Amino acid sequence: NYRARSAFKLLELDQKYNFIKPGSVFIDCGAAPGSWSQVISRKVYPELDLTIEQTEAVDTKLNDSLIIAVDLLPIEPIPGVNIIQGDFTDINIQQKIKELLKEREVDVVVSDMAPNFSGQHFIDHVKSMELCESSLNFAEQALKFGGTFLCKFLMGESDHEFRNLLKTKFNRVRHEKPQAVHKKSTEGYYMCLGYKKQVDR
Ligand code: SAM
Repeated sequence: NYRARSAFKLLELDQKYNFIKPGSVFIDCGAAPGSWSQVISRKVYPELDLTIEQTEAVDTKLNDSLIIAVDLLPIEPIPGVNIIQGDFTDINIQQKIKELLKEREVDVVVSDMAPNFSGQHFIDHVKSMELCESSLNFAEQALKFGGTFLCKFLMGESDHEFRNLLKTKFNRVRHEKPQAVHKKSTEGYYMCLGYKKQVDR
């Protein structure tokens, strides 16, 4: 029982790449209604009794994991998840994330952000790539060496360019289309492993 079917996309990718691990720090961009955060929380905090609908997110000290979920829309509380409502592309919201991180480096940035569909594929594609760039930009500042980045995109003429950019920054970049994505959908995911963090000069 997850809040959205998209949970199964993340479960499938995690089964293949095993990147959701206890003790890690996660940023979930475009997290509403919260099924990806549910997947992460259940995997990293198996101790939490998730059958109980808690009214407040648990500031858990069970292990060192940290999960931060961001969305324009409100998200009902999820045990073990810190929720920020706002525009992820806004630097003030990114600042709020950094405050919660308290200087910790991030292991995994996931983005399932999608624009409000206009119905015109080209426009939606371009907006989607802008969201990808924004999440990559944040990931580059926040991820630790070897970190993981996963982002949704709408296929179109500039996705290759973005993929090439990702390849300069990560050791492995895979185009994934989980089975839970409808066959006809133009949505895909870039699964990026092994962030090649550049040391500041
Ligand atoms: N992964 C989520 C889940 O499993 O519950 C579903 C995410 S839904 C497909 C896409 C979300 O991206 C929407 O909730 C939308 O509000 C959010 N979104 C789009 N643009 C955003 C932005 N600039 N900042 C934050 N969230 C954004």
